[in-house]
Parts: sequence; C-alpha cells; structure tokens
Amino acid sequence: MRKIMIAGNWKMYKTIGEASMLAEELKKELATFIEADIVICPTFTALNTVYSIVEDTPIKLGAQNLFWESEGAYTGEISPVMIKACGCEYVIIGHSERRKYFNETNETVNKRIKAALGIGLNPIICVGETLQEREADKTKAIIEEQLTGGLEGLSNEDMANSIIAYEPVWAIGTGKTATPDQAQEIHAFIRGWIKEKFSTLISENLRILYGGSVKPENSKELMGQADIDGALVGGASLKEDSFAQIAKNAV
Ligand code: PEP
Repeated sequence: MRKIMIAGNWKMYKTIGEASMLAEELKKELATFIEADIVICPTFTALNTVYSIVEDTPIKLGAQNLFWESEGAYTGEISPVMIKACGCEYVIIGHSERRKYFNETNETVNKRIKAALGIGLNPIICVGETLQEREADKTKAIIEEQLTGGLEGLSNEDMANSIIAYEPVWAIGTGKTATPDQAQEIHAFIRGWIKEKFSTLISENLRILYGGSVKPENSKELMGQADIDGALVGGASLKEDSFAQIAKNAV
C-alpha cells in the first residue's frame, strides 16, 4: 500500500522570516498528522531555519534543486552535501520551470538524480508535457523520453528511493488542472513504463504525485484516482490553510 505524499514547492517565494512564519503555522496544523507524508520545499536560504522549526515533527524538508558535484569552483551552485546538511530528506529535480528557464535537460536531470541518490536524498523527479505537445498528441512520447533520459542507469534500489511527479506544464500555475481522468491515464502510463523497465514490485511501490494547480477544491477527486499517490503543490502550498486542507483531503 503506497502512502500518500503531499509536497509543497514554495518556489522563489518567502524570505527567511516569511518562511519561518509559514513553517510555524504548518507545524500547528500538521504536528500530529501522520496519515500522509508531508514535505515542504522552501528556497535554499530558508532551508536551515525551516528545519529548526519542523525537525521534531512529521513534516519533512526538501530542496528545489541541487548541483551534481559535491564541492568545487561552481559559483552560485548548491551541492547535495550542503542540502543534506540543512536537514533535507528530499529534493525536487527537473521541475518544468528549471527545464524552461535554466536549460535543464534529461541528461542534467539524470546527473542530479544520481547525485541526490548517492548521498541518500530522495529525488522527486518531475516530468510533464507542454500544451503544444499535448495538442500534437505527443504526451506519452515526451514522458517516455523524459523517463528514459532522466532515469538512465538507475537501479531498482534507486527507484525504490525515488518519487515521480507528473506535472503537465500547461497546468502549472495556470489554474487549469488536468481532469482526474487525464491525470490517471498518464500516471498509469508512467507506472506501466516503470514496471517494464524495472520490476512489478518497484512499480507497485512507486509513488507518483500529480502537480498542476492542485487546490483544496480539486484535490480529493484527483487523489481518489488509482495511480495518483499524492500531490506536488505550488501556489496552494504558500498558505497554511490550503496546504493543510489538501493534505487532509488526500487521506
Ligand atoms: C509546481 O510548482 O510544482 C506546481 C504544481 O505549481 P502550481 O500548484 O502552482 O500549479
């Protein structure tokens, strides 16, 4: 039985002070909530402070990206070691905003995933098609390409420590959500692909999150689909009441 995961991607929002306030509120709301795994992913600058607030609670910490080298002359980058030292257990990799604005490719996604796994971080690996790709009936081909490149060389054990997030790009921050049927179709496709490339057991245990304008009003129906095991939430994770409500709706 797969445990639901609700992960909040705070993107480039919130100063340390604002992030602390939100973390304190979430701590009040979710301190005893263990029915789902809750992960919050603040900006790098707020990671350590947020960790000191949530460290004794079931709320887990994630980063929004990492660089694959553990140290060196890479000005502006943050290494897996540094992220782990901030208290993170998770890291989002290959988010469509990174692919779109920072030239992230399936190859660099693969390097980041391997670096995360190498240090014991659980990657939340994002895949998803653009509107243009969906309209051209290329959704499954694009997802397959992202999975093939992104998961290249990963072992069954690596997959057991990974989470996949299906995030149709046209649904991120747009208010447009995939219908539960549209999302379920792609989640089932991803699980089938994982089964073929890894094993039945790995595919059955793999958590596949949906992301794209998830809010309290639509979360219940989405989470009710057979292959949707939680959500990666952007906008609605920036307020404690909507994020907590999504978590409570999901179980
Ligand atoms: C995201 O950033 O991963 C996301 C899904 O954003 P939103 O919920 O705002 O669409």
